[in-house]
Amino acid sequence: MATTDLATTPTPSPAASGSLSTTDTPPTQIAGWGRIALPGHEVFGEDLERLSARPTLFRGLGRSYGDSSLPASPSATVVNTTLADRVLSWNPETGMLRAEAGLSLYTMNRLFLPARWFTPVSPGTQFVTLGGMVASDVHGKNHHVAGCFGQHVRAMRMRVADGRVLEVTQRQYADLFWATVGGMGWTGAILEVEVQLQRVPSPWITQHTEQVGDLETLVGRLKEVSRTWPMTMSWIDCLKRGKNMGRGIVFYGRWADAKDAPATFPAWRGEVALPVDAPSWALNPLTMGAFNFGVYRSHIPRHKHAIVGPETFYYPLDYVRSWNRAYGLSGFTQYQCVIPDDAGLRAVVRFMELLTASGAASFLCVMKDCGPEGEGLLSFPKAGTSIAVDIPVKADTAAVVARLNKLVIEVGGRIYLTKDSFTTADDFRAMEPRLDAFLEARQTWDPERRFASAQSVRLFGDDPTGAR
Ligand SMILES: Cc1cc2nc3c(=O)[nH]c(=O)nc-3n(C[C@H](O)[C@H](O)[C@H](O)COP(=O)(O)OP(=O)(O)OC[C@H]3O[C@@H](n4cnc5c(N)ncnc54)[C@H](O)[C@@H]3O)c2cc1C
Repeated sequence: MATTDLATTPTPSPAASGSLSTTDTPPTQIAGWGRIALPGHEVFGEDLERLSARPTLFRGLGRSYGDSSLPASPSATVVNTTLADRVLSWNPETGMLRAEAGLSLYTMNRLFLPARWFTPVSPGTQFVTLGGMVASDVHGKNHHVAGCFGQHVRAMRMRVADGRVLEVTQRQYADLFWATVGGMGWTGAILEVEVQLQRVPSPWITQHTEQVGDLETLVGRLKEVSRTWPMTMSWIDCLKRGKNMGRGIVFYGRWADAKDAPATFPAWRGEVALPVDAPSWALNPLTMGAFNFGVYRSHIPRHKHAIVGPETFYYPLDYVRSWNRAYGLSGFTQYQCVIPDDAGLRAVVRFMELLTASGAASFLCVMKDCGPEGEGLLSFPKAGTSIAVDIPVKADTAAVVARLNKLVIEVGGRIYLTKDSFTTADDFRAMEPRLDAFLEARQTWDPERRFASAQSVRLFGDDPTGAR
């Protein structure tokens, strides 16, 4: 696989707005956030319902890390939805929003937060589209109280493989609804999304941070604060071993009451961009250790409290727009798994021991307490501890992922598809008891497996040439 430069915004191809004739044009490199790229035909659809050809995959802002939004073959057509971003209806009394699938969370935040409405579930970046949020069934810091995004979706307009355009709800075509929520684009194209936004008392967030010295205390504190706080997560220095293994910062918060919040609206933050690709030697144990030490020490005193804007609380990584370039041209993967509660703290400790011993982890390692499993047939979260860690791609990355997967399967956990590029078909099947139910729904709605991606070729053995 090649890597490409995601720092620049791609130029819409002339094939936009309906005419999807790509047979004359050579394929271009299409990349995920981890910078792994594959050849295919990316076209920009302004009017998703009137596309003249039958595309094989839709994609939004390409923030999935691995091969979820990458073409199944060089001849495959991938529709980029980001030009289809109209708000179709909005009710300021009820907070019900209907919009085209390419509307970004970035725009939603700017449109609706001033009126005190916010997405019911937010991932750790606002550079995602509504279609991507549904297809990955994203979860956020409030998973333990709000579940995943799909739970708040009232309806979707979808185009399915036989060409029909359907209004799909939790009751109407329910099997399609729950296979699409978390179904990574394999059940059809999401054209529109209707979602219930959340009323917030102010546009500010009351944030607490606590410095914690070891893994057991960190996992325990996450569980404790989750009982009373709706938004929780933690950052871990995953380079530390021994008694300091798992030292980190626990973050928790809630939307601030109007009486506690500043009278002004929080300023939207400017962004800086990483102008160049980091050289391969830039990420080494010394630089990463220094970075982690800096983050850990910045949280002295041990317990801090502040009223912060939502971008500070939800999207710290968005501040450096193209931070994925820090991993250089070879790119990176994010390994994210959930270790079920019933496997106990010991399983989390074993996972972290394996991770630190592999020497593969870098500076981003996030742990979160998940609530119960939702209804999306391939949705990631289940009751337990989610661990996400960035791993620079090297010759042994597939072997490292295989070792981590072995442990995750043994303890009854699973990985998050939207972050993955290395899990094998056998490992995925072993960790996913709901897979047959998903494949049955896919068989009903797309028997020829027209909607496919590089990920479905890898995990389900889809015929890459069938997805044209
Ligand atoms: C910094 C960062 C932080 C993140 N934090 C979180 C987090 O906290 N929680 C979390 O859950 N995720 C998180 N993510 C992952 C991200 O939320 C998901 O990958 C999301 O799907 C990306 O949206 P997108 O619009 O970029 O979709 P893409 O990456 O373009 O596509 C993702 C998947 O959605 C499918 N898809 C997209 N649009 C459509 C459509 N219209 N119809 C059918 N299928 C479609 C694609 O085929 C693909 O399978 C994070 C990602 C980054 C980069």
